[in-house]
Amino acid sequence: HAKECGRGDFRFYRRQMNIDLLTRMKVDHAMREALKADGFRLVYQPQVDLRTDRIVGAEALLRWTDPSLGTIAPSDFIPIAEETGFIVPLGDWVLQESIRQAEAWQSRGLALTMSVNVSAAQFHRSGFVESLAQWLSGSTLAPGRLELELTESILIQNVEDTLARLDALVDLGVRLAIDDFGTGYSSLAYLKRFPIHKLKIDRSFVCDIPDDQSDCAIATAIINMALALNLRVIAEGVENTIQRRFLMDAGCDEIQGYLITPALAPEALVPFAEQIGLLGAPSALDRSE
Ligand code: C2E
Ligand code: MG
Ligand code: MG
Ligand code: MG
Repeated sequence: HAKECGRGDFRFYRRQMNIDLLTRMKVDHAMREALKADGFRLVYQPQVDLRTDRIVGAEALLRWTDPSLGTIAPSDFIPIAEETGFIVPLGDWVLQESIRQAEAWQSRGLALTMSVNVSAAQFHRSGFVESLAQWLSGSTLAPGRLELELTESILIQNVEDTLARLDALVDLGVRLAIDDFGTGYSSLAYLKRFPIHKLKIDRSFVCDIPDDQSDCAIATAIINMALALNLRVIAEGVENTIQRRFLMDAGCDEIQGYLITPALAPEALVPFAEQIGLLGAPSALDRSE
């Protein structure tokens, strides 16, 4: 049933709560082994500029197949990693690996912004900004090609410290996006207060476009607000051309979703982009900067 699309996170979350302690310990142990044994992978989902029809970025998404537990979805293992604190070393690996990948694309002349999901525990740990600064200075990646996807829940914790960290990140040159926008404890005041560059409209507001009038209205309102505040706006979970057309007409800057492609292995992204003629030319990014 269409109405359930994209609202599955809540179901996963509830299911998560029911996973018993022993299972959580098992998963935690398996994750720690996997990190040591190079068992995690990143896949990359293209982000397309609606004005130029070019791939201008990619979101790094974690994948994990355990030898005995099988393939486990991020929505199942990330909450456990957040609960046990393992998200900190795991998130460090994700950032370093995605910086390496973006650097590799950049050295092939591909002007792609790398979007990376950051968890609250990772963002608020001491030394987060310093570590990132170090990884960026050890890389030839232009810091402006790295975008951190933060959730609203990150921003409402410890507001003064959060603001200082966001400012320090902006000083490094990285871009900041709010992920799953509209699903958190939305205090619109932080849009004014925090140095955010981009809003990501949550998939749950996209998947029932054009049938659900409320979702159409919410998506349009977010786009208009982003335009008025001079923020870029991307819609996630775009699955068909009707949604694409609706978002384009509403003035949305970028889309991401199965309509373009699900996330791809790193070596598949460049051939995919070349094949569909969407390869981000350096000028496409330069115009948006
Ligand atoms: P997210 O950051 O909102 O990522 C978007 C999710 O929607 C991804 O699920 C992606 O595969 C999926 N998706 C993309 N396009 C479509 C579409 O058209 N239709 C549908 N139905 N789904 C689409 P995935 O990869 O399972 O990740 C789920 C969540 O896990 C992510 O949501 C993010 O919150 C978290 N996650 C994934 N990788 C990382 C990571 O490296 N670090 C952290 N902290 N969280 C991560
Ligand atoms: Mg994300
Ligand atoms: Mg999201
Ligand atoms: Mg999400």
